[in-house]
Amino acid sequence: MTERAQAPLLELRGLHIGYGWDDTSVTPVVRGVDLTVGAGEVVGVAGESGCGKTTLAMAAAGLLDPPGRVTAGQVLFEGTDLGRLPADQLRRLHLASIAMVFQASMNVLNPVMRVRKQFADAMAAHGIRDEDEAMARARDMFERVKLPVRFLDAFPHQLSGGMRQRAVIALCLSMRPKLLFLDEPTTALDVVVQRSIMQMLSELRAELGFGVVFITHDLSLLVEVADRIAIMYAGQVVEEAEAKQLYGSARHPYTRALMSAFPPLGVARVRMEGLPGQPPDLRALPPGCAFSPRCPVAVDGTCNVLSPREVRTGHHRVTCHLHDQQEASVG
Ligand code: SF4
Repeated sequence: MTERAQAPLLELRGLHIGYGWDDTSVTPVVRGVDLTVGAGEVVGVAGESGCGKTTLAMAAAGLLDPPGRVTAGQVLFEGTDLGRLPADQLRRLHLASIAMVFQASMNVLNPVMRVRKQFADAMAAHGIRDEDEAMARARDMFERVKLPVRFLDAFPHQLSGGMRQRAVIALCLSMRPKLLFLDEPTTALDVVVQRSIMQMLSELRAELGFGVVFITHDLSLLVEVADRIAIMYAGQVVEEAEAKQLYGSARHPYTRALMSAFPPLGVARVRMEGLPGQPPDLRALPPGCAFSPRCPVAVDGTCNVLSPREVRTGHHRVTCHLHDQQEASVG
């Protein structure tokens, strides 16, 4: 087998991303992220607003626009370095293999055009110009996302928010992407609609086999739908593990704080502990561990002085001095 045939669907290697119009004033937003996504796998990326997860997704999808720029590292799609692809090849790759559903993507539908026409135009842009084939695909995807086919003839305002989001997902999946980015796809919807859309996406993923990068601040939702979860803080992945492992034995104090911010289901109501403080200003990060000013178990003289290194145990990796010391003492 060739190296390319063995390559993961998506691989981020030491990715650094910053914002700035010139080299002298780049604000680092993503700092040295490694992440892989296999075919048919759902990888969740969670963290507070401003931790760099959307910037990471935009770069990983090859959609980052100036002043955003990859300052170091690589984004590999099936072994191909997106940073080295000429613009026309990158566009072809997007059209053929990568799709993205945004938080407010239900608003991307043109309000004065029937849904049917928007499907036909999108498919024509993807090279499917035969209208019968385009409509057959549209009807098939509408059925798969559990939308009545008659709504293809509707205008977007005649659909509810949840129905519009399903229509956008149907539109993306009708191009048969290998990799789907979901950036807070259900945040604007109520909890019941959120759950039904996530259930639908899980079924479609099992059926169609596309890989998913799911960006959200809702860790409880990710635990239900993701195979693996990466937790981001201040532009870095501070912990990554299989979803069940992360839920059962989170190791990073930030992950634990995020977990404790969600109420457990089926038990008596309890007062929730919030996570005090704010994420750091990325232009002026604190010395040592970026989480140290908010960390309840920070060790003075270590955490606020030295940057922790990443420690791996099997498929679980964590970047925290506490675990570094434990590993060292075990080793
Ligand atoms: Fe907390 Fe220190 Fe671990 Fe950072 S390195 S998360 S400050 S214990």
